[in-house]
Amino acid sequence: MKSATTSGELRAHNRVRLLRAVHDCAATRTRSQLTRDLNLARGTASVLVAGLAEDALLHEEPASGHARGRPTQVPGPHPLGPLALAADVREDAWELAACELGGRVTVLEVRPHDGTPEGALASLGRAVAGHLSRRVVGVGVALAGPVRHDGLVDIAHLGWRSVDVPRLLGLGSADVPHGLGPDQVAVGNDTALAALAEARRGRLRGVRVGLHLHVDFDLGGVLVVDGRPLAGASGVGAEFGHMPLGGGDRPCACGATGCWGQEVGANALLRHVGLAYGGGRGRRQAEEVLATSREAVEAGARALGLGVAALVNAHDPEVVTLSGLGAEFWERAGGALMESCGPALMAIRRERPPRIEAGALGWRGALLGAMESVFDAFLTPEGLERWRETRPDQGADTPESRNVTHYTL
Ligand SMILES: [Zn+2]
Repeated sequence: MKSATTSGELRAHNRVRLLRAVHDCAATRTRSQLTRDLNLARGTASVLVAGLAEDALLHEEPASGHARGRPTQVPGPHPLGPLALAADVREDAWELAACELGGRVTVLEVRPHDGTPEGALASLGRAVAGHLSRRVVGVGVALAGPVRHDGLVDIAHLGWRSVDVPRLLGLGSADVPHGLGPDQVAVGNDTALAALAEARRGRLRGVRVGLHLHVDFDLGGVLVVDGRPLAGASGVGAEFGHMPLGGGDRPCACGATGCWGQEVGANALLRHVGLAYGGGRGRRQAEEVLATSREAVEAGARALGLGVAALVNAHDPEVVTLSGLGAEFWERAGGALMESCGPALMAIRRERPPRIEAGALGWRGALLGAMESVFDAFLTPEGLERWRETRPDQGADTPESRNVTHYTL
């Protein structure tokens, strides 16, 4: 953000800072703590909070456990405030959630799909359209493949080539009430978004250089520097899964040979016990293999450890975090992982190896990262100004609340 020069710009700047602080602390800090954190005068903070409440951006609740005297107020999401829709599109199903400022997630729908771009994205687009309202400030979509900055995605093992995600979602059409503009649809790689979420709310918070690995049917990885996953020049930098790091020599659907992702994940588990694999099918069988075949799990963990050592040698991270099946490999076969990782580390790395640990957000990281990408675009002076111009009427547009599950982080 450029520095604020006029009093109006300063106020807009401080509104963003306060909302950002409320969001990042998951609405747990009191008004006086936030006032100190942001180095604001008390009177300035009062005026800002009142203005944000009037704009349906914040709502204060008394702090729980307060004993006596004037209750301490905790600023949090307004009941009619902005919502980010977030979707995690996996190879076999998608999940759609509504997220409030502060990060509370309400799962709206979970649907299986057939693995085709149309089957996955058109059904998701219809579901998103059904949940749009003036409260919705954007939709973030996580996908299991490299995503170029313009929203084109490739998922080699599903046969997706340059799939135009925003076009297939169809949310900009004039037929869609409360449709979203192109800048309100954020499409990202699931691993990079899971890493972003760990950096904001999980085990990569405050870490200068971290490595995050997300394992589902295969494996993705990304380096996180100062809280930001390194995206590469065109957005497709997070492709450690397509480097020959796991000791295999199989051809990969991406066109390369010996990709690490061939050796780690649900596909490799299924292959290890002689079951059919590929095309994003077989999740339940893979979970069974995970629970019953020690040999398959240790093979995956060893391949994971070998690649971790190569990336640690290259990048010198403080911590390596694992999500999805990666956390399962660590929990079930951490010994095998370390047995292959340790000897492959350079001697100078072995003296002080990085911590390896399961991420804090489990399978929900990609969804939460998709939420963060929406609020990153919204929490700007321009985003808040647009919200003021299209402010919802009081009492209108309450969110869908049937058959939902609440997760509070
Ligand atoms: Zn590959």
